[in-house]
Amino acid sequence: MILTVHGAARNVTGSKHVLQAGGRRVLLDCGLFQGRRAESERRNRNLPFDPRSIDAVLLSHAHVDHCGSLPTLVKNGFRGRIFCTGATADLADILLRDSAYVQRQDLEYLNRRRRKRGDLPLEPVYTEDDVDSTVGLLTPVAYGERVDVLPGVEAVFRDAGHILGSATIQIDAREGSTSRTIVFTGDLGRSDMPILRDPTPVHSADVLVTESTYGARTHGPIDEIRDELSGFLRRTIRRRGKVIIPSFAVGRTQRIVYELHVLMSEGRVPEVPIFVDSPLAVRATEVFRKHAECYDEDMRSFVAEGNDPLGFSRATYIEDVRESKKLNDMPGPAVIISASGMCEAGRVLHHLKNHIGKRRNAVLIVGYQAEHTLGRRIAAGEKRIKIFGKVHSMRARVAVFGEFSAHADRDELLAFALGIKRQPRRTVVVHGSEEQALSLANLLTERGLPGVVVPLDGESIPID
Ligand SMILES: [Zn+2]
Repeated sequence: MILTVHGAARNVTGSKHVLQAGGRRVLLDCGLFQGRRAESERRNRNLPFDPRSIDAVLLSHAHVDHCGSLPTLVKNGFRGRIFCTGATADLADILLRDSAYVQRQDLEYLNRRRRKRGDLPLEPVYTEDDVDSTVGLLTPVAYGERVDVLPGVEAVFRDAGHILGSATIQIDAREGSTSRTIVFTGDLGRSDMPILRDPTPVHSADVLVTESTYGARTHGPIDEIRDELSGFLRRTIRRRGKVIIPSFAVGRTQRIVYELHVLMSEGRVPEVPIFVDSPLAVRATEVFRKHAECYDEDMRSFVAEGNDPLGFSRATYIEDVRESKKLNDMPGPAVIISASGMCEAGRVLHHLKNHIGKRRNAVLIVGYQAEHTLGRRIAAGEKRIKIFGKVHSMRARVAVFGEFSAHADRDELLAFALGIKRQPRRTVVVHGSEEQALSLANLLTERGLPGVVVPLDGESIPID
């Protein structure tokens, strides 16, 4: 048996891991690469393996850095089944459609400029038709159910507590008389997050494939973070500024709306209008409503008492692009939450372009920003920001609140790995920057886990 890591090797995007066992090839996640434009373009157009050689896909969750290249896989000949939870199937459906739509919009803009220069227009990496074919292959499975993936390959999906529908995946694979259990964390969430159940511990593994987004960092106590956040919001509101929050439309947006709801209800932040400017967030909220089976106890009782925790009366959800444009001229103070989360595409670029030049405004970074993304440059405090090919001066205040992350921190990652009673003989650390991944690997080795590796992109690891 062999595991080959393509993408998310010493970085956090483009997760794709191929498990070869008994002549079958199973792909764990098929994420979009996000980073420098030319590199992303090249990597997302050309998958590092032949899609026709893959027999089945196991999908941990619906974030595009885990599922966003599935339509490319299907467009290039994959015809097997894609196993995931029901909530992931519904979220992947809307996220992939959005990804195709955003590509089309971006290309229309880029191609207009290319035509003016006399360059040939670019084709999208995939279209809405490719998404239709992909969605047809999604095969929903229930949490905890043992699923026959292929002859000799079974899987169990368990709560990962990261976003709605997210799962850790246990794969039991046979090759001749040898059986091995591989546990893939996907993205591991946090305990005690609102809405979702905590990650389910795993008790047995031969191989652990673990993420390491925050492999070297711990998140501060949430109450302190809420204090800091409310201070930052109060100061911006006093200046009558607008707060722009780039955010993934799914998961992070719902969490931030929830946090603002709490702070405003408790009077810690003055009541100001909140706009969720994302057609995707509206559709995502519908999926959240539909999948109550993913809620934790608190959320269930909250809903049972007649509350509508996802349709918070304070937030205005905007779908129409004209309504979105009106936000430019609207006077502050206000909060505008918009996608994409790493400022690589989507409406948030227009909000940044229109607001970062004024000192009274603010940009609030609430999620992980991959290297070479615009979000990373903003978070790093760069003052000259290029948007749609033009340089803008950053005069707005910038604050970074990594603690709202839906990712486990160092201690939670350690607890998950070290809590496996039948200890893995091999641990593969993926999905983290080099610094974070190596740091987690060292800690795991120090605490007694044997065979910990941090693979390079394209590296194959034998499973013996
Ligand atoms: Zn994720």
